[in-house]
Formats: sequence, C-alpha cells, structure tokens
Amino acid sequence: MRIANLRGRLSLLTEGDGAIDVAGASGGRFGPDPQSPFGQWDEFAAWASQLHEAGATPYRPEELGPPVPRPDQVFAIALNYRDHADEARLELPAEPPTFTKFPSCLTGPNGAVALSGEAVDWEVELVVVIGREGHRVSAADAWSVVAGVTVGQDISDRVVQMRPPAPQFSLGKSFPGYGPIGPVIVTVDELDDPDDLELGCSVNGEEVQKGRTSDMIFSVPELIARLSSVVTLRPGDLIFTGTPSGVGAGRTPPRFLRPGDVLTSYVQGVGEIRHVFEPGSAA
Ligand code: ZN
Repeated sequence: MRIANLRGRLSLLTEGDGAIDVAGASGGRFGPDPQSPFGQWDEFAAWASQLHEAGATPYRPEELGPPVPRPDQVFAIALNYRDHADEARLELPAEPPTFTKFPSCLTGPNGAVALSGEAVDWEVELVVVIGREGHRVSAADAWSVVAGVTVGQDISDRVVQMRPPAPQFSLGKSFPGYGPIGPVIVTVDELDDPDDLELGCSVNGEEVQKGRTSDMIFSVPELIARLSSVVTLRPGDLIFTGTPSGVGAGRTPPRFLRPGDVLTSYVQGVGEIRHVFEPGSAA
C-alpha cells in the first residue's frame, strides 16, 4: 500500500499513478483525515489490502501534503551512520542520541522552504511511521509496530543547532518547512528488505548523499526497542532515523543551501521529494 495525503484527504495511490479517496471508497468507514488510519491500523490495513484499484483518479504531485500531518511525537536520531559520525568528527554513540523535530516543521513532499540563515544544511533520512502503540517493544517484534516508511529531510540550521551553551538540536531543526516528508507511506510488506534501503539526495542535480540503511549504527528495530524502553510509541508517531555522510557541514569548505537551490531526496522503493529554497529572515 502507498498511503498519501492528497488535497488534505487520506488517499491510496495505485500502480497506475491514480489515487483513491479513502473516505469515499470506504463509504465513510474510514474518515478523510490523513492522520486517522494509524489509530485503527489493523482494520485499515485489512480493508485497504482488499481494495480494487478501479475508480482511481489522476492527481498531480504538487497536490500531495505530508502523509502524516499531525503526529503526537516526532523522534529524530543523530549520528546513526558511521560515515556521518566520522565526517562530524564525533565518536560512535553507545546509545542513540535523540531529539525532536517539533511537528509544526512538517511539510509535504514538494514545495518551497524559506531559509532561516546562512548555514542551512540537508540530511536525507528514512522516516518510520508507527502503526501500533508500543512500550518496551523488543527488537524482534519492532517491525510489527510499524505502519510503513517514508522519505524525510532533517533540514538543519547549523548555527541555531550548535548555539552555546548547549546544542539546540530540536530548535535548529524545526523552522517552518524543515521537516519535509513524503511522497507516500509505503507499508513494510511492500519492501523487499526494510533493513537495507538505498537513500540519497542531490542539490541542483549534483549527488551529495548516498547510503544504505543497512549501514545504520542502530537499525530500525534497535531504535524502536531503545526508544520504547523509555517512552510509549503512539500510532502515527514518526522516527527520523539519522542521515548518512555527505551533509554540507562535513565538507571542506562547508557548503550550505542558498536561495534557488533545489534539493531532491529519495529512498529506494519509497519515492522522491523535491524542495526549492527561498530567502527568509535570519533567526
Ligand atoms: Zn538528522
């Protein structure tokens, strides 16, 4: 299943590039709110897997919004790829360093993002969407609490992020539009190997990041086990799982996003998102 937010309504996308409106096709059994299926994930998944693709209507990619518009919790993990920890000149973590992206930063898979300053950076990430509530979930059971995955960018203002006296990861990564996700949620059953997905991004067509999720220090199941050893994961929560090497801050000299730059990000088997950067007022 490929679950989308189309014109603000919960939709399923079909192989033939069509869309099915869930509220309409289900006769109102499931509502139009894209945030709603995660609260009744088992019923929704069972219904959607039986759905015939007849009646799909065309859509344009610009009409897609964030597939999870209002999660209760957004977790994000720093330093989860060895090569990225190396370029940041930091030691490999013994525990996943965790912060939040405040949900108001989420935006859809296409569009414009206003720059907050002179040191705004890219971080392509696999984003996990939680489908079932879970506390103290074992790594062995972890994929069973996941609804699916989507593509994300953990856009980061490095100046605000590293402002003394203590780093402000959550603020520096939560300006409006700094959490693009989409274009769809792909359910886990559609992925050949959910623990080994290629991901990457390019700036103005030049590849800047390319990695594989199998190179994570803490795999998705391990992240879910460790996060849920403390907090209760709720249906519709997001986990930004960390970024591979190739961020702008790790380059010599550093390279950051400028007005007019186009950032294209992908996860193999999931899709591609595309954003153009605009001048904004500095923080
Ligand atoms: Zn990140």
